[in-house]
Amino acid sequence: MIPYTTDGFQDDRFFELYDISEDGFSIYENNEYYIFYNPLRYEPRINFTISHEIGHIELFHHFLLPQKVLMSSRYKHTVWEKQADTFAGNILMPAKEFKNLRDLNRKPYVEGYRYGVSNQALQVRWNTLDYDLRQFNKINPNEVIL
Ligand SMILES: [Zn+2]
Repeated sequence: MIPYTTDGFQDDRFFELYDISEDGFSIYENNEYYIFYNPLRYEPRINFTISHEIGHIELFHHFLLPQKVLMSSRYKHTVWEKQADTFAGNILMPAKEFKNLRDLNRKPYVEGYRYGVSNQALQVRWNTLDYDLRQFNKINPNEVIL
């Protein structure tokens, strides 16, 4: 985990990296993963950015895609970015816990501080909850191939 800021740049390489994303990105190099993030963003955004990059790592995107650097804020239209967003939403706001909130007739955005995410992320999670729960119910743990 490497924070980067405009006043912390020591060489041209960091300027180039900041140009890649103002939020964060991840790199796989020499058998190591590096997650860079902008600590000047507000905390909910940082939480989502880091979770998104962990998603790229856990989903093996660094091995599946030709580009070396995977980022958070650009090219959101690709399936890879959507997968990383979905991963981040699920680890920050677990579907089954959200279902419990809904069953209790609570408004998730009222309790949003518990999740450390933005209101926008909470709204997306709420809107995709039924779809994600249906997907969970389709998974048979006995059929998962590891
Ligand atoms: Zn990404």
